[in-house]
Amino acid sequence: MSTDPSCDHITLDQDYRELLSDLTAIFDSGKTKDLAWRRSQMIAIETMMRDQEAEIFAALKSDLGKSAMESFITETSYISSDAAYNRKNLSRWTRIKRVRTPVIGQPGKSWIQPEPLGVVLIIGAWNYPLQLTLAGMSAAIAAGNCVVIKPSELAPATSAIIARLIPEYLDPDCVKVVEGAVPETTALLNLSFDHILYTGGGDVAKIVMSAAAKHLTPVTLELGGKSPCIVMPDANLEATAKRIAWGKFTNAGQTCIAPDYILADAYTEKLLIPLLEKNIEEMFGYDPQKSKSYGRMVNARHFKRVSALIETDHIAIGGQLDADKRYISPTVLSNISLESPIMQEEIFGPVLPFVRANDIEHAIDIIRQGEKPLSAYIFTNNKVTEKKFLEQVSCGNACVNDVMMFMAVHDLPFGGVGSSGMGAYSGQSGFKTFSHMKSIMKRAWWPDLAVRYAPYNKRKFKFLRWIR
Ligand code: NAD
Repeated sequence: MSTDPSCDHITLDQDYRELLSDLTAIFDSGKTKDLAWRRSQMIAIETMMRDQEAEIFAALKSDLGKSAMESFITETSYISSDAAYNRKNLSRWTRIKRVRTPVIGQPGKSWIQPEPLGVVLIIGAWNYPLQLTLAGMSAAIAAGNCVVIKPSELAPATSAIIARLIPEYLDPDCVKVVEGAVPETTALLNLSFDHILYTGGGDVAKIVMSAAAKHLTPVTLELGGKSPCIVMPDANLEATAKRIAWGKFTNAGQTCIAPDYILADAYTEKLLIPLLEKNIEEMFGYDPQKSKSYGRMVNARHFKRVSALIETDHIAIGGQLDADKRYISPTVLSNISLESPIMQEEIFGPVLPFVRANDIEHAIDIIRQGEKPLSAYIFTNNKVTEKKFLEQVSCGNACVNDVMMFMAVHDLPFGGVGSSGMGAYSGQSGFKTFSHMKSIMKRAWWPDLAVRYAPYNKRKFKFLRWIR
Protein backbone atom coordinates (compact mmCIF):
# COMPACT_ATOMS: atom_id res chain seq x y z
CA MET A 1 0.00 0.00 0.00
CA SER A 2 1.35 3.43 -0.92
CA THR A 3 2.12 5.92 1.80
CA ASP A 4 1.84 8.81 -0.64
CA PRO A 5 -1.48 10.55 0.21
CA SER A 6 -1.86 11.80 -3.38
CA CYS A 7 -2.24 8.12 -4.48
CA ASP A 8 -5.35 7.85 -2.28
CA HIS A 9 -6.81 10.79 -4.12
CA ILE A 10 -6.11 9.17 -7.48
CA THR A 11 -7.93 6.02 -6.31
CA LEU A 12 -10.85 8.05 -4.97
CA ASP A 13 -11.12 10.04 -8.19
CA GLN A 14 -11.01 6.87 -10.30
CA ASP A 15 -13.50 5.02 -8.09
CA TYR A 16 -15.98 7.87 -8.08
CA ARG A 17 -15.61 8.44 -11.82
CA GLU A 18 -16.55 4.79 -12.35
CA LEU A 19 -19.43 5.11 -9.89
CA LEU A 20 -20.79 8.12 -11.76
CA SER A 21 -20.37 6.50 -15.16
CA ASP A 22 -22.26 3.37 -13.93
CA LEU A 23 -25.09 5.54 -12.61
CA THR A 24 -25.20 7.58 -15.83
CA ALA A 25 -25.51 4.35 -17.84
CA ILE A 26 -28.39 3.19 -15.62
CA PHE A 27 -30.08 6.56 -15.89
CA ASP A 28 -29.73 6.47 -19.69
CA SER A 29 -31.35 3.01 -19.72
CA GLY A 30 -34.57 4.73 -18.54
CA LYS A 31 -34.98 2.51 -15.46
CA THR A 32 -35.46 5.37 -13.01
CA LYS A 33 -38.03 7.14 -15.21
CA ASP A 34 -40.54 4.34 -14.77
CA LEU A 35 -43.26 5.48 -12.36
CA ALA A 36 -43.75 1.99 -10.92
CA TRP A 37 -40.03 1.87 -10.10
CA ARG A 38 -40.19 5.28 -8.42
CA ARG A 39 -43.18 4.19 -6.32
CA SER A 40 -41.40 0.96 -5.34
CA GLN A 41 -38.48 3.04 -4.03
CA MET A 42 -40.81 5.25 -1.97
CA ILE A 43 -42.35 2.10 -0.44
CA ALA A 44 -38.83 0.80 0.24
CA ILE A 45 -38.01 4.00 2.15
CA GLU A 46 -41.21 3.70 4.20
CA THR A 47 -40.48 0.01 4.95
CA MET A 48 -36.89 0.78 5.90
CA MET A 49 -38.01 3.46 8.37
CA ARG A 50 -40.51 1.05 9.94
CA ASP A 51 -38.42 -2.15 10.04
CA GLN A 52 -35.13 -0.58 11.10
CA GLU A 53 -36.53 1.93 13.58
CA ALA A 54 -34.75 0.48 16.63
CA GLU A 55 -31.32 0.45 14.96
CA ILE A 56 -31.81 3.95 13.59
CA PHE A 57 -32.84 5.26 17.02
CA ALA A 58 -29.71 3.67 18.53
CA ALA A 59 -27.48 5.38 15.93
CA LEU A 60 -29.08 8.78 16.57
CA LYS A 61 -28.75 8.25 20.32
CA SER A 62 -25.07 7.49 19.90
CA ASP A 63 -24.40 10.52 17.65
CA LEU A 64 -26.56 13.18 19.30
CA GLY A 65 -28.09 11.67 22.45
CA LYS A 66 -31.52 11.93 20.77
CA SER A 67 -34.44 10.26 22.51
CA ALA A 68 -36.46 7.67 20.58
CA MET A 69 -39.51 9.90 20.42
CA GLU A 70 -37.57 12.93 19.16
CA SER A 71 -35.91 10.70 16.55
CA PHE A 72 -39.35 9.44 15.53
CA ILE A 73 -40.85 12.93 15.18
CA THR A 74 -37.93 14.67 13.48
CA GLU A 75 -36.31 11.84 11.53
CA THR A 76 -37.97 8.46 10.81
CA SER A 77 -41.65 9.44 10.71
CA TYR A 78 -40.81 12.64 8.82
CA ILE A 79 -38.91 10.68 6.14
CA SER A 80 -41.57 8.03 5.94
CA SER A 81 -44.52 10.43 5.58
CA ASP A 82 -42.54 12.51 3.08
CA ALA A 83 -41.90 9.40 0.93
CA ALA A 84 -45.58 8.40 1.21
CA TYR A 85 -46.61 11.91 0.15
CA ASN A 86 -44.28 11.73 -2.88
CA ARG A 87 -45.68 8.31 -3.79
CA LYS A 88 -49.31 9.43 -3.58
CA ASN A 89 -48.73 12.56 -5.66
CA LEU A 90 -46.39 11.19 -8.32
CA SER A 91 -49.05 10.72 -11.01
CA ARG A 92 -50.26 14.29 -10.56
CA TRP A 93 -46.79 15.84 -10.48
CA THR A 94 -45.50 13.94 -13.54
CA ARG A 95 -48.56 14.78 -15.66
CA ILE A 96 -47.90 17.11 -18.58
CA LYS A 97 -49.33 20.61 -18.21
CA ARG A 98 -50.94 22.12 -21.28
CA VAL A 99 -50.47 25.85 -21.90
CA ARG A 100 -52.19 28.21 -24.36
CA THR A 101 -50.73 28.50 -27.87
CA PRO A 102 -51.10 31.99 -29.44
CA VAL A 103 -52.58 32.58 -32.91
CA ILE A 104 -49.15 32.81 -34.52
CA GLY A 105 -48.46 29.21 -33.42
CA GLN A 106 -51.82 27.81 -34.60
CA PRO A 107 -52.68 25.17 -35.38
CA GLY A 108 -50.49 23.78 -32.63
CA LYS A 109 -50.30 22.51 -29.06
CA SER A 110 -47.95 23.50 -26.26
CA TRP A 111 -47.18 21.78 -23.00
CA ILE A 112 -44.69 21.43 -20.13
CA GLN A 113 -43.33 17.97 -19.50
CA PRO A 114 -41.26 17.28 -16.33
CA GLU A 115 -38.14 15.19 -16.94
CA PRO A 116 -35.51 13.98 -14.47
CA LEU A 117 -32.10 15.64 -14.47
CA GLY A 118 -29.83 12.57 -14.33
CA VAL A 119 -27.51 11.82 -11.42
CA VAL A 120 -27.93 13.91 -8.27
CA LEU A 121 -25.36 14.33 -5.46
CA ILE A 122 -26.73 14.88 -1.95
CA ILE A 123 -24.33 16.10 0.76
CA GLY A 124 -25.97 15.84 4.18
CA ALA A 125 -25.38 17.61 7.51
CA TRP A 126 -24.95 16.07 10.96
CA ASN A 127 -27.70 17.67 13.05
CA TYR A 128 -30.61 15.72 11.52
CA PRO A 129 -28.28 13.25 9.86
CA LEU A 130 -30.98 10.93 8.55
CA GLN A 131 -33.69 13.39 7.59
CA LEU A 132 -31.41 15.88 5.82
CA THR A 133 -29.94 13.11 3.68
CA LEU A 134 -32.89 10.82 2.97
CA ALA A 135 -35.63 13.44 2.41
CA GLY A 136 -33.55 14.98 -0.39
CA MET A 137 -32.84 11.49 -1.76
CA SER A 138 -36.55 10.67 -1.72
CA ALA A 139 -37.41 13.84 -3.70
CA ALA A 140 -34.63 13.14 -6.22
CA ILE A 141 -35.80 9.55 -6.77
CA ALA A 142 -39.45 10.65 -7.01
CA ALA A 143 -38.37 12.97 -9.81
CA GLY A 144 -36.76 9.97 -11.59
CA ASN A 145 -33.05 10.49 -10.89
CA CYS A 146 -30.16 8.29 -9.83
CA VAL A 147 -28.63 9.45 -6.55
CA VAL A 148 -25.29 9.52 -4.72
CA ILE A 149 -25.60 10.26 -1.00
CA LYS A 150 -22.73 11.58 1.14
CA PRO A 151 -23.86 11.59 4.80
CA SER A 152 -22.06 13.76 7.34
CA GLU A 153 -18.99 12.23 8.94
CA LEU A 154 -19.78 14.16 12.14
CA ALA A 155 -22.67 11.75 12.82
CA PRO A 156 -20.65 8.52 12.23
CA ALA A 157 -23.16 5.99 13.60
CA THR A 158 -25.96 7.38 11.41
CA SER A 159 -23.64 7.58 8.40
CA ALA A 160 -22.77 3.89 8.92
CA ILE A 161 -26.39 2.80 9.19
CA ILE A 162 -27.32 4.76 6.04
CA ALA A 163 -24.45 3.03 4.20
CA ARG A 164 -25.67 -0.37 5.38
CA LEU A 165 -29.42 0.03 4.89
CA ILE A 166 -29.68 1.91 1.59
CA PRO A 167 -28.26 -0.90 -0.59
CA GLU A 168 -30.38 -3.41 1.37
CA TYR A 169 -33.71 -1.61 0.80
CA LEU A 170 -33.31 0.59 -2.27
CA ASP A 171 -32.25 -0.33 -5.79
CA PRO A 172 -28.44 -0.62 -5.46
CA ASP A 173 -27.95 0.00 -9.18
CA CYS A 174 -29.47 3.48 -8.92
CA VAL A 175 -28.75 4.75 -5.40
CA LYS A 176 -25.24 4.76 -3.91
CA VAL A 177 -23.83 5.87 -0.58
CA VAL A 178 -20.33 7.30 -0.22
CA GLU A 179 -19.14 7.67 3.36
CA GLY A 180 -16.34 10.05 4.22
CA ALA A 181 -15.19 13.54 5.07
CA VAL A 182 -13.42 16.35 3.21
CA PRO A 183 -11.24 14.21 0.85
CA GLU A 184 -14.19 12.09 -0.26
CA THR A 185 -16.50 15.10 -0.71
CA THR A 186 -13.77 16.97 -2.59
CA ALA A 187 -13.28 14.02 -4.95
CA LEU A 188 -17.04 13.76 -5.55
CA LEU A 189 -17.22 17.50 -6.23
CA ASN A 190 -14.62 17.14 -9.02
CA LEU A 191 -17.22 15.19 -11.01
CA SER A 192 -19.96 16.49 -13.25
CA PHE A 193 -23.28 15.74 -11.52
CA ASP A 194 -26.62 16.95 -12.88
CA HIS A 195 -27.62 18.62 -9.59
CA ILE A 196 -26.12 19.00 -6.11
CA LEU A 197 -28.12 19.38 -2.91
CA TYR A 198 -25.89 20.57 -0.07
CA THR A 199 -26.99 21.11 3.53
CA GLY A 200 -24.63 22.74 6.01
CA GLY A 201 -22.73 25.93 6.72
CA GLY A 202 -22.10 28.84 4.34
CA ASP A 203 -18.30 28.46 4.10
CA VAL A 204 -18.48 24.93 2.72
CA ALA A 205 -21.42 26.01 0.53
CA LYS A 206 -19.03 28.37 -1.27
CA ILE A 207 -16.64 25.44 -1.92
CA VAL A 208 -19.56 23.36 -3.23
CA MET A 209 -20.84 26.13 -5.46
CA SER A 210 -17.38 26.89 -6.89
CA ALA A 211 -16.85 23.21 -7.70
CA ALA A 212 -20.32 23.00 -9.27
CA ALA A 213 -19.65 26.11 -11.36
CA LYS A 214 -16.80 24.31 -13.16
CA HIS A 215 -19.40 21.94 -14.64
CA LEU A 216 -22.32 24.42 -14.70
CA THR A 217 -24.07 22.06 -12.28
CA PRO A 218 -27.13 23.63 -10.63
CA VAL A 219 -27.10 23.65 -6.83
CA THR A 220 -29.62 23.75 -4.04
CA LEU A 221 -27.99 25.10 -0.88
CA GLU A 222 -29.75 24.55 2.45
CA LEU A 223 -27.82 26.76 4.87
CA GLY A 224 -28.40 28.42 8.23
CA GLY A 225 -28.02 31.73 10.04
CA LYS A 226 -29.57 33.49 13.01
CA SER A 227 -33.33 32.88 13.02
CA PRO A 228 -35.01 35.66 15.06
CA CYS A 229 -38.11 35.26 17.18
CA ILE A 230 -40.16 38.36 18.05
CA VAL A 231 -42.44 38.17 21.08
CA MET A 232 -44.96 41.02 21.35
CA PRO A 233 -46.55 41.92 24.72
CA ASP A 234 -50.02 41.09 23.33
CA ALA A 235 -49.10 37.42 22.65
CA ASN A 236 -50.43 34.50 24.67
CA LEU A 237 -47.23 34.21 26.69
CA GLU A 238 -48.04 30.82 28.27
CA ALA A 239 -48.33 29.17 24.84
CA THR A 240 -45.42 31.24 23.49
CA ALA A 241 -43.06 30.03 26.22
CA LYS A 242 -44.04 26.37 25.70
CA ARG A 243 -43.54 26.53 21.92
CA ILE A 244 -40.24 28.41 22.09
CA ALA A 245 -38.85 26.08 24.78
CA TRP A 246 -39.71 23.07 22.60
CA GLY A 247 -38.28 24.62 19.41
CA LYS A 248 -35.08 25.90 20.99
CA PHE A 249 -34.14 22.89 23.12
CA THR A 250 -35.10 20.05 20.75
CA ASN A 251 -31.87 18.32 19.65
CA ALA A 252 -30.07 20.53 22.22
CA GLY A 253 -30.59 23.57 20.00
CA GLN A 254 -28.76 22.03 17.03
CA THR A 255 -31.56 22.78 14.58
CA CYS A 256 -31.08 25.10 11.61
CA ILE A 257 -34.60 26.53 12.06
CA ALA A 258 -34.52 26.80 15.87
CA PRO A 259 -35.29 30.30 17.20
CA ASP A 260 -31.76 31.68 17.60
CA TYR A 261 -32.61 34.70 19.78
CA ILE A 262 -35.67 36.49 21.18
CA LEU A 263 -36.58 40.09 20.42
CA ALA A 264 -38.86 41.51 23.11
CA ASP A 265 -39.29 44.59 25.29
CA ALA A 266 -38.06 44.58 28.90
CA TYR A 267 -41.54 43.94 30.35
CA THR A 268 -42.27 40.97 28.05
CA GLU A 269 -38.82 39.53 28.79
CA LYS A 270 -39.54 39.76 32.55
CA LEU A 271 -42.83 37.87 32.12
CA LEU A 272 -41.53 35.30 29.64
CA ILE A 273 -38.40 34.12 31.50
CA PRO A 274 -40.25 32.45 34.43
CA LEU A 275 -42.65 30.85 31.95
CA LEU A 276 -39.72 29.46 29.97
CA GLU A 277 -38.23 28.14 33.20
CA LYS A 278 -41.51 26.40 34.09
CA ASN A 279 -41.73 24.80 30.64
CA ILE A 280 -38.08 23.68 30.61
CA GLU A 281 -38.66 21.98 33.96
CA GLU A 282 -41.89 20.37 32.73
CA MET A 283 -40.15 19.06 29.59
CA PHE A 284 -36.74 18.03 30.98
CA GLY A 285 -37.16 17.95 34.79
CA TYR A 286 -35.31 19.79 37.50
CA ASP A 287 -31.98 18.37 36.26
CA PRO A 288 -32.11 18.11 32.43
CA GLN A 289 -28.84 16.14 32.45
CA LYS A 290 -30.85 13.22 33.85
CA SER A 291 -33.64 13.61 31.31
CA LYS A 292 -34.03 10.96 28.59
CA SER A 293 -35.65 13.62 26.41
CA TYR A 294 -32.69 15.99 26.26
CA GLY A 295 -29.81 15.71 23.75
CA ARG A 296 -26.06 16.41 23.77
CA MET A 297 -23.72 18.55 21.67
CA VAL A 298 -22.47 16.61 18.66
CA ASN A 299 -18.76 16.84 19.55
CA ALA A 300 -16.17 18.52 21.80
CA ARG A 301 -15.52 21.33 19.29
CA HIS A 302 -19.17 22.41 19.21
CA PHE A 303 -19.44 22.01 23.01
CA LYS A 304 -16.50 24.40 23.46
CA ARG A 305 -17.77 26.87 20.86
CA VAL A 306 -21.29 27.13 22.36
CA SER A 307 -20.06 27.14 26.00
CA ALA A 308 -17.82 30.11 25.19
CA LEU A 309 -20.87 32.09 24.00
CA ILE A 310 -22.55 31.98 27.43
CA GLU A 311 -22.16 35.35 29.14
CA THR A 312 -22.28 34.27 32.77
CA ASP A 313 -23.37 37.71 34.06
CA HIS A 314 -26.55 37.43 32.01
CA ILE A 315 -27.66 33.87 32.85
CA ALA A 316 -31.36 33.84 33.75
CA ILE A 317 -31.88 30.07 33.45
CA GLY A 318 -29.42 27.14 33.31
CA GLY A 319 -25.77 27.63 32.42
CA GLN A 320 -24.62 24.20 33.69
CA LEU A 321 -21.87 22.50 31.67
CA ASP A 322 -20.33 19.02 31.62
CA ALA A 323 -17.53 18.84 29.05
CA ASP A 324 -17.01 15.06 29.41
CA LYS A 325 -20.65 14.39 28.51
CA ARG A 326 -20.88 17.25 25.97
CA TYR A 327 -23.80 18.53 28.05
CA ILE A 328 -25.03 22.13 28.09
CA SER A 329 -28.19 22.66 30.10
CA PRO A 330 -31.10 24.62 28.54
CA THR A 331 -29.83 28.16 29.05
CA VAL A 332 -31.54 31.55 28.77
CA LEU A 333 -29.61 34.83 28.80
CA SER A 334 -31.34 38.11 29.63
CA ASN A 335 -30.77 41.57 28.16
CA ILE A 336 -28.01 40.76 25.66
CA SER A 337 -26.50 43.50 23.56
CA LEU A 338 -26.37 43.32 19.79
CA GLU A 339 -22.58 43.72 20.00
CA SER A 340 -22.19 40.66 22.23
CA PRO A 341 -20.23 37.65 20.72
CA ILE A 342 -23.35 35.45 20.91
CA MET A 343 -25.08 37.83 18.47
CA GLN A 344 -22.26 37.57 15.89
CA GLU A 345 -22.79 33.94 14.84
CA GLU A 346 -25.49 31.28 14.60
CA ILE A 347 -25.64 29.73 18.10
CA PHE A 348 -26.58 26.17 17.06
CA GLY A 349 -26.83 25.04 20.67
CA PRO A 350 -29.19 25.26 23.68
CA VAL A 351 -28.55 28.89 24.59
CA LEU A 352 -31.32 31.46 24.11
CA PRO A 353 -30.44 35.15 24.42
CA PHE A 354 -33.03 37.92 24.88
CA VAL A 355 -32.31 41.11 22.96
CA ARG A 356 -34.31 44.25 23.78
CA ALA A 357 -36.60 45.68 21.09
CA ASN A 358 -38.97 48.47 22.11
CA ASP A 359 -41.61 47.87 19.44
CA ILE A 360 -42.23 46.03 16.17
CA GLU A 361 -40.42 48.67 14.06
CA HIS A 362 -37.34 48.38 16.28
CA ALA A 363 -37.45 44.55 16.12
CA ILE A 364 -37.77 44.55 12.31
CA ASP A 365 -34.95 47.06 12.08
CA ILE A 366 -32.65 44.80 14.13
CA ILE A 367 -33.47 41.79 11.94
CA ARG A 368 -32.88 43.76 8.76
CA GLN A 369 -29.43 44.84 9.93
CA GLY A 370 -28.31 41.20 9.68
CA GLU A 371 -28.29 38.63 6.88
CA LYS A 372 -31.60 37.26 5.63
CA PRO A 373 -32.49 34.46 8.07
CA LEU A 374 -33.49 30.90 7.22
CA SER A 375 -36.55 31.25 9.48
CA ALA A 376 -38.23 34.08 11.34
CA TYR A 377 -40.92 33.89 13.98
CA ILE A 378 -43.41 36.24 15.57
CA PHE A 379 -45.80 35.77 18.48
CA THR A 380 -48.60 38.33 18.46
CA ASN A 381 -52.38 38.72 18.49
CA ASN A 382 -52.25 41.88 16.44
CA LYS A 383 -52.99 41.48 12.70
CA VAL A 384 -51.32 44.80 11.78
CA THR A 385 -48.10 43.79 13.57
CA GLU A 386 -48.22 40.38 11.92
CA LYS A 387 -48.67 41.97 8.47
CA LYS A 388 -45.77 44.37 9.04
CA PHE A 389 -43.52 41.48 10.03
CA LEU A 390 -44.52 39.27 7.09
CA GLU A 391 -44.14 42.10 4.57
CA GLN A 392 -40.92 43.63 5.87
CA VAL A 393 -38.83 40.66 6.99
CA SER A 394 -37.30 38.65 4.15
CA CYS A 395 -36.56 35.08 5.27
CA GLY A 396 -36.70 31.52 3.94
CA ASN A 397 -39.65 30.42 6.06
CA ALA A 398 -41.84 32.17 8.63
CA CYS A 399 -44.25 31.07 11.34
CA VAL A 400 -46.80 33.17 13.22
CA ASN A 401 -47.47 32.11 16.82
CA ASP A 402 -45.28 29.00 16.64
CA VAL A 403 -41.81 27.88 15.65
CA MET A 404 -40.59 25.26 13.14
CA MET A 405 -44.06 23.79 12.50
CA PHE A 406 -44.05 24.71 8.79
CA MET A 407 -41.89 21.60 8.43
CA ALA A 408 -45.04 19.53 8.99
CA VAL A 409 -46.67 20.96 5.85
CA HIS A 410 -45.31 18.95 2.91
CA ASP A 411 -46.44 21.45 0.30
CA LEU A 412 -44.62 24.41 1.83
CA PRO A 413 -41.26 24.64 0.01
CA PHE A 414 -38.40 24.52 2.52
CA GLY A 415 -35.34 26.64 1.76
CA GLY A 416 -33.44 29.81 2.53
CA VAL A 417 -32.95 33.15 0.83
CA GLY A 418 -29.78 35.24 0.49
CA SER A 419 -27.08 33.87 2.79
CA SER A 420 -29.47 31.28 4.30
CA GLY A 421 -29.58 29.35 1.05
CA MET A 422 -30.95 29.01 -2.45
CA GLY A 423 -33.56 26.68 -3.88
CA ALA A 424 -35.99 24.56 -1.90
CA TYR A 425 -37.37 21.08 -1.46
CA SER A 426 -40.25 19.29 0.35
CA GLY A 427 -43.39 18.05 -1.38
CA GLN A 428 -43.86 19.22 -4.95
CA SER A 429 -41.08 21.81 -4.62
CA GLY A 430 -38.63 18.89 -4.13
CA PHE A 431 -39.98 17.16 -7.21
CA LYS A 432 -39.52 20.40 -9.19
CA THR A 433 -36.01 21.01 -7.82
CA PHE A 434 -34.85 17.66 -9.22
CA SER A 435 -36.77 17.94 -12.50
CA HIS A 436 -36.34 19.93 -15.66
CA MET A 437 -39.61 21.44 -16.81
CA LYS A 438 -39.24 20.82 -20.53
CA SER A 439 -41.21 23.17 -22.81
CA ILE A 440 -42.64 21.49 -25.86
CA MET A 441 -44.58 22.79 -28.85
CA LYS A 442 -46.08 20.62 -31.57
CA ARG A 443 -47.24 22.13 -34.87
CA ALA A 444 -49.72 20.82 -37.37
CA TRP A 445 -48.50 20.74 -41.00
CA TRP A 446 -51.37 22.77 -42.34
CA PRO A 447 -52.49 25.56 -42.55
CA ASP A 448 -49.18 27.41 -42.33
CA LEU A 449 -49.56 31.17 -41.79
CA ALA A 450 -47.39 32.86 -44.43
CA VAL A 451 -47.18 36.04 -42.38
CA ARG A 452 -44.03 35.05 -40.44
CA TYR A 453 -41.97 34.23 -43.51
CA ALA A 454 -39.83 36.70 -45.54
CA PRO A 455 -40.11 38.64 -47.73
CA TYR A 456 -41.58 41.04 -45.17
CA ASN A 457 -43.97 43.72 -46.44
CA LYS A 458 -46.48 46.27 -45.19
CA ARG A 459 -49.49 44.00 -45.59
CA LYS A 460 -47.89 41.20 -43.52
CA PHE A 461 -46.68 43.74 -40.93
CA LYS A 462 -50.18 45.16 -40.53
CA PHE A 463 -51.71 41.70 -40.14
CA LEU A 464 -49.06 40.75 -37.60
CA ARG A 465 -49.81 43.83 -35.51
CA TRP A 466 -53.52 42.96 -35.66
CA ILE A 467 -53.18 39.36 -34.44
CA ARG A 468 -50.72 40.18 -31.59
P1 NAD B 1 -21.29 19.51 8.40
O1 NAD B 1 -20.02 19.74 9.11
O2 NAD B 1 -22.03 18.24 8.65
O3 NAD B 1 -20.97 19.65 6.87
C1 NAD B 1 -21.93 19.42 5.90
C2 NAD B 1 -21.32 18.55 4.83
O4 NAD B 1 -20.25 19.23 4.18
C3 NAD B 1 -20.75 17.24 5.34
O5 NAD B 1 -21.25 16.17 4.57
C4 NAD B 1 -19.25 17.43 5.20
O6 NAD B 1 -18.57 16.22 4.89
C5 NAD B 1 -19.13 18.38 4.04
N1 NAD B 1 -17.89 19.17 4.12
C6 NAD B 1 -17.34 19.72 5.23
N2 NAD B 1 -16.21 20.40 4.91
C7 NAD B 1 -16.06 20.28 3.57
C8 NAD B 1 -15.10 20.76 2.61
N3 NAD B 1 -14.05 21.51 2.99
N4 NAD B 1 -15.26 20.45 1.32
C9 NAD B 1 -16.31 19.70 0.92
N5 NAD B 1 -17.26 19.22 1.77
C10 NAD B 1 -17.12 19.48 3.07
O7 NAD B 1 -22.32 20.66 8.63
P2 NAD B 1 -22.11 22.07 9.29
O8 NAD B 1 -21.54 23.01 8.30
O9 NAD B 1 -21.50 21.97 10.64
O10 NAD B 1 -23.68 22.35 9.50
C11 NAD B 1 -24.12 23.34 10.32
C12 NAD B 1 -24.77 24.42 9.50
O11 NAD B 1 -25.71 23.85 8.63
C13 NAD B 1 -25.53 25.42 10.32
O12 NAD B 1 -25.31 26.72 9.83
C14 NAD B 1 -26.99 25.03 10.10
O13 NAD B 1 -27.89 26.10 10.27
C15 NAD B 1 -26.93 24.54 8.70
N6 NAD B 1 -28.03 23.62 8.43
C16 NAD B 1 -28.96 23.98 7.52
C17 NAD B 1 -30.03 23.14 7.28
C18 NAD B 1 -31.09 23.48 6.27
O14 NAD B 1 -31.85 22.58 5.92
N7 NAD B 1 -31.18 24.71 5.78
C19 NAD B 1 -30.13 21.94 7.97
C20 NAD B 1 -29.14 21.62 8.88
C21 NAD B 1 -28.08 22.45 9.09
